[in-house]
Amino acid sequence: MRLLFLDHAGVLGGAELSLLDIARHHRNTSEVVLFSDGPFRTTLEQAGVTVTVLPVPERLLEVNRADGWRSLAALPAIPQVLRALAPFVRQADLVHCNSQKAFALGALAASVSRRPVVWHLRDILTADHFSAANRRVAVTLANTFATKVIANSQATAQAFIDAGGRRDLPVVVYNGIDPDAFEDLTPATARQAAGLDLEGFVVGAFSRLAPWKGQHVLLESLAQLPGTHALIVGDALFGETAYEARLHAMTRSLDLERRVHFLGFRRDVPTLMAACDAIVHTSVAPEPFGRMIVEAQLARRPIIATRAGGAVELIEDGETGWLVPPGDAGKLASCLSHMLTAPAERRAISQKARDAASRLFTRNAMLDAFRDVVEATRRAPT
Ligand code: UDP
Repeated sequence: MRLLFLDHAGVLGGAELSLLDIARHHRNTSEVVLFSDGPFRTTLEQAGVTVTVLPVPERLLEVNRADGWRSLAALPAIPQVLRALAPFVRQADLVHCNSQKAFALGALAASVSRRPVVWHLRDILTADHFSAANRRVAVTLANTFATKVIANSQATAQAFIDAGGRRDLPVVVYNGIDPDAFEDLTPATARQAAGLDLEGFVVGAFSRLAPWKGQHVLLESLAQLPGTHALIVGDALFGETAYEARLHAMTRSLDLERRVHFLGFRRDVPTLMAACDAIVHTSVAPEPFGRMIVEAQLARRPIIATRAGGAVELIEDGETGWLVPPGDAGKLASCLSHMLTAPAERRAISQKARDAASRLFTRNAMLDAFRDVVEATRRAPT
């Protein structure tokens, strides 16, 4: 089947990294259309994937998750995009939309050309993340046009149904990561490889910088953990520069400058994870999936995550990681200080987590499940 993948983003967020694996696997029979240029395009091209950047009017991309009916102002820009998309859609047997903005445009374009369309839903459709109007529009489009909604966790699927989505639409395809990308390195070897001159206990956070990703909670807990260092890995990918500035200001006001290391966006995540003694996921709103949680498990490092959304499907509390309440810096600090004093427990849990993640959340498992959905659309009426 010829697949057309649509994504609005040009940056390398988790959704794009996941699509990269899928598009690379299907590169002989698929192409990608992006609505913004950036490192995602070059990374796809390096992977041998055919990519076209189809710039769309700014006001369409500027429609924000929090926008309500105000986003209707972007409607007049849509026909022009549909015309530009039509030749790509007509050549495809299936249109796969990797983001909400891509789905809004892809669903309409696919319907005009009578092609089946699948929405790969990688967001939790709740008030934490989207306005009521935004959710209503997305769910109505899905209920009307989508052949299937691929949800990246049970939590994502359930939120779709709770937002009014049809029960028969979602099918869960967990994200998957290549376990072989994670070598078994000691922290000392990894720190040397990554050029990090650090002594002592190191905690890592590997997420884009955004208020709901909660890096501020890590800073608050670090103030209670003298001597512990933190690597903050990730960038403000979607314009959250005010939050980035807030994190730097907090680091100064809490007198953490010598212990907090902002590394920006990095392409050597497996090595940087191995350079840590523990990894934290601090999202203060439900995480749809949380690739970095599985990556920490594959890197054989203990993971503490917040108990909400898809994260609870990835971690068995006390067995393959630890779960703490979202936004609770005190609980995070006490969990980390327990870890500091229990290296044997850390090792045992990390090994169990590596075994579980390499059984349940591999790239191959994701690709197989994805193929099953694609095959099913062949049989579904359009
Ligand atoms: N990531 C990365 N470089 C960074 C920070 C993060 O490559 O500097 C990757 C991280 O390893 C993970 C992805 O970005 O694979 C983030 O995915 P996740 O599901 O954790 O969050 P999302 O960005 O999708 O909300």
